[in-house]
Amino acid sequence: MAAASPRVPVVAGNWKMFKTGAETREFFATFLPLVARTSHCGIVVAPPFTALAAAVESARGSAVAIAAQNLHWEPQGAFTGEISAPMLVESGCSGVIIGHSERRQFFGETDETVARKLRAALASGLEPIVCVGETLTEREAGQTEQVLDRQFQGAFSALTPADFSPILVAYEPVWAIGTGRTATPELADEAHRFLRSLAARRFGDDAASRLRILYGGSVKPENIRGLMAKDSIDGALVGGASLDPRSFAAIVNYKEG
Ligand code: PEP
Repeated sequence: MAAASPRVPVVAGNWKMFKTGAETREFFATFLPLVARTSHCGIVVAPPFTALAAAVESARGSAVAIAAQNLHWEPQGAFTGEISAPMLVESGCSGVIIGHSERRQFFGETDETVARKLRAALASGLEPIVCVGETLTEREAGQTEQVLDRQFQGAFSALTPADFSPILVAYEPVWAIGTGRTATPELADEAHRFLRSLAARRFGDDAASRLRILYGGSVKPENIRGLMAKDSIDGALVGGASLDPRSFAAIVNYKEG
């Protein structure tokens, strides 16, 4: 029999550029009662910057942690339109998503900026969720492992094992994000095992066995259980299906029913 995983799963919702403050309050009014008794996993919601205050206020006293979707690597400065790690901490965030594929694709995020943002998040005590994943072209060219290796080294190679310990990695194959096309549990499992082997090589077996790797890409109430049945999958980063409180609660409560 396989040993029980030492890792507490995390289910995180990435709201992208959706929801006002009022819509955020409405979401939590429905969502919180549905997850009030959930204890098998951590729950994170990442609203847009302008809804952070409403989310923090609404989630106060619950088990839901609030994360941002991005940050700048400097603590302050002449960077119009940017938000820093200390600002996020002050707003009540406890985590931040870094290197989401939409930021890599549309906003020039690179492995280097991911590493800088990651250091800033860690220095401020924010729990980072670092996204990695291959495009369809890269997968079809047989380059998945090469891409994951490059993104992993780019983000983490300068870190110590102590720096690495609070980090969550999200494996998000770009071809599965917002497309309705989920990776099969087997395919996600393969990528997660590969990522864990990279962590073991760089930070040791102990750090690798504690690393939480979330799967992201069209996760829904209908497919979460198949994914979570894999030992290597420690939760999910959910986009579209996290916008509806009932569907996100059904994903969070994947152990029931
Ligand atoms: C995401 O934005 O991280 C994501 C996985 O989106 P979706 O669940 O909509 O594919």
